[in-house]
Amino acid sequence: MTGEKKHLVIIGGGFAGLNLLRKTDKSKYNVTLVDRNNYHSFPPLFYQVASAGLDPAGISYPLRREVHHYKKDGVNFNLGDVKEIDTENHTITTDREVISYDIAVIAAGTTNNFFGIEDLEHRVYTLKSTGEALTLRNEVLRRLEVASIEPDASKRRELLRFVVVGGGPTGVEIAGALGEMKRYLIDREYPQIDKEEVSITLIEGSGKLLGAMGGKASDLAYKYLNNLLVDIDLDKQMKSYDGQKIECADGTVYESSLVIWTAGVTTVDITFAKGQPQYGRGRRIMVDEFNKVEGINDLYAIGDISLMTSDPNFNGGHPQLAQVAIQQARNLASNLNRENRRKSFRYHDKGTMATVGRNRAVVDLKHLCFGGFKAWFIWMFIHLMSILGARNRITVLINWVWSYFTYGSSLRMVFMASRMPDWAKKA
Ligand SMILES: Cc1cc2nc3c(=O)[nH]c(=O)nc-3n(C[C@H](O)[C@H](O)[C@H](O)COP(=O)(O)OP(=O)(O)OC[C@H]3O[C@@H](n4cnc5c(N)ncnc54)[C@H](O)[C@@H]3O)c2cc1C
Repeated sequence: MTGEKKHLVIIGGGFAGLNLLRKTDKSKYNVTLVDRNNYHSFPPLFYQVASAGLDPAGISYPLRREVHHYKKDGVNFNLGDVKEIDTENHTITTDREVISYDIAVIAAGTTNNFFGIEDLEHRVYTLKSTGEALTLRNEVLRRLEVASIEPDASKRRELLRFVVVGGGPTGVEIAGALGEMKRYLIDREYPQIDKEEVSITLIEGSGKLLGAMGGKASDLAYKYLNNLLVDIDLDKQMKSYDGQKIECADGTVYESSLVIWTAGVTTVDITFAKGQPQYGRGRRIMVDEFNKVEGINDLYAIGDISLMTSDPNFNGGHPQLAQVAIQQARNLASNLNRENRRKSFRYHDKGTMATVGRNRAVVDLKHLCFGGFKAWFIWMFIHLMSILGARNRITVLINWVWSYFTYGSSLRMVFMASRMPDWAKKA
């Protein structure tokens, strides 16, 4: 590393990591960005990839292109899955190498939480990455194709019985997208299928949808989903799933071989060789008001993986949202750039939103909650502007406009590798 510059290693190129990279003063730090993927992804639109509304490339951005902007400033991207951090020797071990750091920032986000339910991980579809969204999309499309040539009505129903578990924004959005498929697409593209044979059920453990939003948002989401022919069952806590049968705590049983699990997240698993951090709710890493990992020098955590309880308006911790990750990254960058003038982090809540099919969304601001077309338009505009890369924004916009007017099917194709060499499966 050159001169007096410190080596800053950022683990994760998501909303938090990428914003930190952008804002860090490159005259003070050589930066290495490490991510297990060589692209930044945009989780709020995973459900659109899963429902064949968008192409995955449209919501992804190559990390190498980002790093290329700073190639003269000592910024590097290293592909790697971080396994271990040694906080005493200041090293990070990935599946490929060991990297030394002066300062390390963990921005690795969250992964699915299966709450210890036996074998659930191997039986459900999930939506925590672009790859998972694509897997779900292939399976939904495959089932529609198979059902359209299946002569036995009970087998068709079995193929087309989808259950979404979890009534948060992701569950509501994917259920809405499937509902839209049922309501508008089946007759048009799969005339052999009677749309009454397609069943979409959303089950939620608590008494309301979109629990983190206001009551009105929940009522609106309920109404919109009903309109899209989605069955909603509240107060149903899933206890087990054997691949066919879901059993709930109150004894209710659902039959489905395609279950989409959106009911929980936990932090990405990174082990610590020396110096354990403290973990809080959701196994998030406890940080102080500057996002420094409590009790460990030169180690910070930002975004979904961190839990800060010092913000007076959020003393139970911040919600796991893109805005929190972005704002924390910017605050940390400014603190690292001006170490003698550090600022405590305060989250400026800009509200939350969720969409339910075309034309409908709910927007929940501090003193105002509304739905309908206006909310949907705002949702579209904000998401479009948040996607990285002008080319991506144009592609996504064209896709949205095209499918709004035509219900176009250009993305509803099943691409799966028919073969690959054995070594490639392990790489
Ligand atoms: C389906 C879905 C929908 C969402 N919708 C919304 C929404 O509408 N609005 C909103 O505000 N928020 C939404 N969120 C939440 C939002 O995406 C997160 O709050 C945000 O992404 C957090 O940013 P982050 O940088 O902390 O983590 P992430 O964006 O998850 O980035 C983490 C990065 O770390 C990398 N990584 C993980 N583990 C390792 C490892 N061991 N080694 C190396 N790299 C690693 C990952 O590849 C990834 O690039 C949604 C999330 C999901 C899953």
